[in-house]
Amino acid sequence: MGRKIDLEALCHEKGLRITEQRKVIARVLSDADDHPDVEKVYARASAIDPGISIATVYRTVRLFEEAGILDRHDFGDGRARYEPAPEAHHDHLIDVETGKVVEFVDPELEQLQKQIAEKLGYRLVDHRMELYGVSLSRKE
Ligand SMILES: [Zn+2]
Repeated sequence: MGRKIDLEALCHEKGLRITEQRKVIARVLSDADDHPDVEKVYARASAIDPGISIATVYRTVRLFEEAGILDRHDFGDGRARYEPAPEAHHDHLIDVETGKVVEFVDPELEQLQKQIAEKLGYRLVDHRMELYGVSLSRKE
């Protein structure tokens, strides 16, 4: 959503040790706008540095996630997908045929969710909204 988050800079802020391989993985994740899974991150990172193993990608992704700088999503197909933790909230629409992820924010929807929580006696602190669809413009 128009943001490029610099994971490497966030690593420094969080005091994480940043190796050359972690730097490559951080750059791949920062540059991605498709919410890649580990396989895709591995393919892109190992194209830059063939020494990077998939185990290293798994470890690094877990480390970033635990540091709170990377968000993990489960978009219903059982594969964890990742994006740098966004500064501003957004929701996702997932194309169930291609796995493409579209980000959106709808102020009315945000408001409605708050109202629903209040009606149920709660103050909303977080939510996850995922829409699943098939493209109307795809040719048969
Ligand atoms: Zn997103």
